[in-house]
This record gives sequence, C-alpha cells and structure tokens, in this order.
Amino acid sequence: MQTPQMPIAIRLALASLVLAVVVLALKGVAAWLTGSVALYSDALESVVNVVTAIVALMAVRLSARPANAALPYGYYKAEYFSAVIIGIFIALAAVLIFYEAYRAFVSPHPFTADPLGIGVSVVATAINGAWAYWLVRLGRREKSVALESDGKHLWTDVLSTVGVLAGVLLAVATGIHQIDPILAALVALNVLWSGWQVLRQSVVGLMDVAVDPKQLAVIKELISSNADGAIEAHDIRTRQAGPMMFIEFHLVVPGTMSVEAAHAICDRIEAKLREAVDEATITIHVEPEEKAKHSGIVVV
Ligand code: ZN
Ligand code: ZN
Repeated sequence: MQTPQMPIAIRLALASLVLAVVVLALKGVAAWLTGSVALYSDALESVVNVVTAIVALMAVRLSARPANAALPYGYYKAEYFSAVIIGIFIALAAVLIFYEAYRAFVSPHPFTADPLGIGVSVVATAINGAWAYWLVRLGRREKSVALESDGKHLWTDVLSTVGVLAGVLLAVATGIHQIDPILAALVALNVLWSGWQVLRQSVVGLMDVAVDPKQLAVIKELISSNADGAIEAHDIRTRQAGPMMFIEFHLVVPGTMSVEAAHAICDRIEAKLREAVDEATITIHVEPEEKAKHSGIVVV
C-alpha cells in the first residue's frame, strides 16, 4: 500500500537533515568565535535536530514498506522506536549542557560579543525560523500533526537562540559573565522538555493508546449511522500506529441474516470510516442477535 504522499515525506525529511547540518555548523562557528557557553549549548541543541532528522528519515522510509508474512501489521511503529532513540540523545545533550554551564558558572571565563560570531548565529537562527514557519504552514495544509509539531519544536529553538543572543550581549555590556552559564542552563531545561514530549508521544504509540475521544465519537457516529439492518455494535477498540489507524468492533445482526447481507453492511461501514480517517485497517466481527450486549452503540 504505497501512498502517494510518501515521496514528499522523504523529501521533507532530507531537507530538514541538510538544514539541520548547516545550522549546526554555523552555530558551532558562532560558539567558537565568541567563546560563550550559552552559544555552545545552543549549538548542542542543534545536534539534537541533526539526530532527529536522521532518525526521522529512516523511520519515514521504513514505515512506507508494505506488510509481509513476518510483519503482518506493517512497519508503522518504526517511528516510535526512532522517537525513543531521539529522546535518549536529547537527554544526553541536556546533561552535556548542564555540565558545561556548571563549569562556566564556577570559574567564569571571559568571552567576547564577537560581531562575526553573533552575525553567524543570527543567520543560523533566520534559516531555522524560515524552515519552522514553512513546516507549520505545510503541516496545517496537509493535516500532518507530525510536520506541524516538528515546526513548532524548531520554533522553540529559534526563541531560545534569540534569548541566548540577548543574554550574551547583556553579559558583555554589564560585565556579569555568570549570565552566560545561567542562560545555558535554561537552554538545557528547554532541551529536556522537548525530549520529554518526544518520549511521551512514542510511549503513547507503543502502548496502543486509543484514539482521542473526539475522533472516537466521530467513529461511533459513523458506525451507527451506516449500519442499517444490524442491531448493535459493541467492544469497539481503536489504536494508532504511525499513519495507520486500527479499528475493531463486534457487529450484531439478526441470526437469520445471510452472510452476504451481513458482509454488505460491513463493507458500507468500512467505506464510510475510510472516508473519515486517512488510512485505516478495519476488522469487524459479526455476531447473531443472542450475543447482543445492549451496552454498545444501538443501531437504529
Ligand atoms: Zn460481541
Ligand atoms: Zn470482506
């Protein structure tokens, strides 16, 4: 089941990777020119983006593989493993930044607001900002939560760099060099927060958490309004695996109904559900009426 938007996803992941490498190089140069710990931590934050982009690229390619005999449910969960790896790297980056910030706080070393260093950092941030804006816009247009959240994550990077730059200038202007490591520690907190968000999302996916209540309500409504001829539906279970939504439920029909008629109801419901959600794997278990629980959705 190759979806047409897959190549776009791969192109986007590639572009994100190239931009992340460019931004990392620029931020590294800025940190080296100024000697600022805060700018150094800002560069480390970009390492996170490079790792994230590499793993996202691998996950996008893996998820696109068709299901086979050994993996009959497909490769959709590949992206949750990648998210776990990303989470670990993000935590490592945060620890490194905390360590550097501590060292610089205990024994402050002089640094300069080297105009070239500051300028290079501003250019790197402008690239990040433009890409973040584009990702959020594209994510909204394509209704891709993943793209939109990537863009929002990048945007927090932009904001923290703006804060770091302001702090570096303030530290040089006031001569209070401790401002620099304090800012670095704040950047580390931001890095830890984004790591937590990534881990939380992957745990939700790995544990097969049900789709959100609003979406579930839509699914229930579609089942009950398209099941003419059936008596009720119950034991509805849903889960999301990457781009694929899995929906299962029991459908109670009159015991005398033919298999053909019952199957036609199933096909009608499946078609309506597929219209409502992008990609769905739907399994319906048909039961005769003495199995009715009278606790599920009552079909009119
Ligand atoms: Zn049942
Ligand atoms: Zn069938």
